[in-house]
Amino acid sequence: MDFELTEEQKLLQETAYKFAVNEFEPVAKECDREERYPKELWEKACETGMVGCYVPEEYGGPGFGFLEVALITEQLSRVDLGLALVVMAATFGAENILFYGTEEQKKKYLPLLVNGQAISAGAYTEPDAGTDVVGTRTTAVKDGNEYVINGSKMFITNGTVCDFMVVLCVTNPKEEKRHRRHSLILVEADRNGITKHKIKGKMGIRASDTAEIIFEDVRVPCENLIGAEGKGFYQLMHFFDVTRTMVAAQGVGLAQGALDKTVRYVQERKTFGQPLASYQGIQFQLAEMATKIEVARNITYKAAWKVDQGQMDPSLNAMCKYYSGEMAVWVCDKALQLHGGYGYIDEYDVQRFYRDAKILEIYEGAKEAEKMTIARRLF
Ligand SMILES: Cc1cc2nc3c(=O)[nH]c(=O)nc-3n(C[C@H](O)[C@H](O)[C@H](O)COP(=O)(O)OP(=O)(O)OC[C@H]3O[C@@H](n4cnc5c(N)ncnc54)[C@H](O)[C@@H]3O)c2cc1C
Repeated sequence: MDFELTEEQKLLQETAYKFAVNEFEPVAKECDREERYPKELWEKACETGMVGCYVPEEYGGPGFGFLEVALITEQLSRVDLGLALVVMAATFGAENILFYGTEEQKKKYLPLLVNGQAISAGAYTEPDAGTDVVGTRTTAVKDGNEYVINGSKMFITNGTVCDFMVVLCVTNPKEEKRHRRHSLILVEADRNGITKHKIKGKMGIRASDTAEIIFEDVRVPCENLIGAEGKGFYQLMHFFDVTRTMVAAQGVGLAQGALDKTVRYVQERKTFGQPLASYQGIQFQLAEMATKIEVARNITYKAAWKVDQGQMDPSLNAMCKYYSGEMAVWVCDKALQLHGGYGYIDEYDVQRFYRDAKILEIYEGAKEAEKMTIARRLF
């Protein structure tokens, strides 16, 4: 068993962290306060090769694995999760094109994402269907050589800034088996009949764009179908198996960032004439935080590595996402507590980390959905 990262992987980590320190730190507070999506950061990131780095060379990307995606995501999230999403979630949903798209679709869309010409979104959740994906109601009805789409999607990352989205629709409503009624369809964001509403007032990741999207008689050519008709649910579950390792990496990075800040703070802050760091009660808490982060990091790297080896393990992927999210919330709670009153005001970054962490237990399947996957494997 070799736990050592390659020199190239270490360089990627270093490059990503430097990018985040230089580009994220100066604007993170402002983007959080103003709920501003900084498109210019995405443009800069596209020049570094980080955006869509999983895209193979034949489609214009560097062709990294999902372990490399996790390593970059972790380092960016160490500085700011919302801005890490602006960069790493700019290709969200497009993994489906890579996994299931036709050669024409891959050649048409994937290069746009890595060249900074397009942003994608994955539109699955609906107002009445989140955890219960099969409860999706948005329909895509065939009319000649087009699909006509009607319905609405909720909480869509990049919803108002994307150029195209991969949408989960019901195409085979009469299919007896409920799981075989869905398909994934690529919809260009400027099609007639699409309305987008930016969702404001999020607790965290406020730099990331989130929207509700309504489809009213939106027509797309049938060639926009991704993969096979009636297989959308299964394709989506496979997609989540992969992307859960990325969310887990977000948790590892965010928690590490909170710990870094806390370690610095407790050495500066004095009570009773001594730095907080001198008290064993404080040291024990930092030790527990560091240990949990390391556990999450190891399980995340292992899960991402297995994806790259073609040894997909849905249970392990669910474990790393659920554990990492819960760990990040726990670590940020400790980090804020150790900052005392200063942790409670937004002058100090730890407050933003605390708010950002919670999403890791909710999106891409709430942690209960991951526990369902893990438990299913046990029986
Ligand atoms: C900021 C943000 C960004 C997002 N980005 C995207 C995106 O890009 N694309 C997209 O499609 N979606 C996105 N989502 C949606 C997200 O994936 C869903 O919110 C999530 O899957 C949970 O669905 P829900 O909100 O409908 O909760 P519900 O399904 O209503 O669940 C509510 C709670 O009940 C629990 N629960 C539900 N059923 C059970 C059960 N059977 N047993 C035990 N517990 C259960 C859930 O775990 C959850 O805690 C985003 C959400 C947010 C907040």
